[in-house]
Amino acid sequence: MTLNVYAFTCGWLTLPAALLLAGEKGSLTVPVPAYLIEHPKGRAIFDSGLHVDTQTDPNRRLGRLAAYHTVGFKPGEQIATRLEALGVAPSRIDFIINSHLHFDHCGGNEQLPNATLLIQRREWEAGHNSELIESVYYDPHDYDHGHKVKMLDGDHDVFGDGSVVCIPTHGHTPGHQSLRVRIGAGEVVMTGDACYLRRTLDNFHLPTAMYDREQMLESIRRLRALRDRGAMIITGHDPELWETIPQAPDRLAAVNPGV
Ligand SMILES: [Zn+2]
Repeated sequence: MTLNVYAFTCGWLTLPAALLLAGEKGSLTVPVPAYLIEHPKGRAIFDSGLHVDTQTDPNRRLGRLAAYHTVGFKPGEQIATRLEALGVAPSRIDFIINSHLHFDHCGGNEQLPNATLLIQRREWEAGHNSELIESVYYDPHDYDHGHKVKMLDGDHDVFGDGSVVCIPTHGHTPGHQSLRVRIGAGEVVMTGDACYLRRTLDNFHLPTAMYDREQMLESIRRLRALRDRGAMIITGHDPELWETIPQAPDRLAAVNPGV
């Protein structure tokens, strides 16, 4: 069986470092990752990056968040173009797996019109609760595009063979999830915002704000347990780690010995 994983950079964000690591000074410029998983039974995207409107009018698109984020996102970096460059038609993506519904993780959903969205039920419901839309900083314009939605309650084996599994990592938002992918003899886990940076994982260094601190710590413990058993962990927005991650058209699998 062949399973390929590709990493894309769908833009960059510059923001106060303290938003990622409480107490840190200065600012950080961080990547906005998206991934393509090609499985014999279908193609899945894990996180779709920023909405293409943020290339031309980020202030309007980001609203309240524009005060804290400077967007670096050029034409050609959006998910649809990234896929086309790889020879994959965006219309042929079967699944969008969103870690959560923040603007830099699901803004590209609109460009993948035929996909079924795989999302934790808690996250989807939070994204349609007016109080949480306000307090957790969701924007339904990023994700309400009429996709078929499959709501998940916990772990979900995407292709039924254990190779691609959604794992709940709540805390950053009410229903955040990460993705575990088995490639050859190894495992890769894309954490999304359950862990912004390697330092989050190494030191339990939490961000300034999160939905549920205890759940976030529990999620980091779960990710550390996966690392302890040999999984490669790709945290959500780590510029130093990201430099070491092969980008499409190279396969991410190349980093994993034995593949
Ligand atoms: Zn987030």
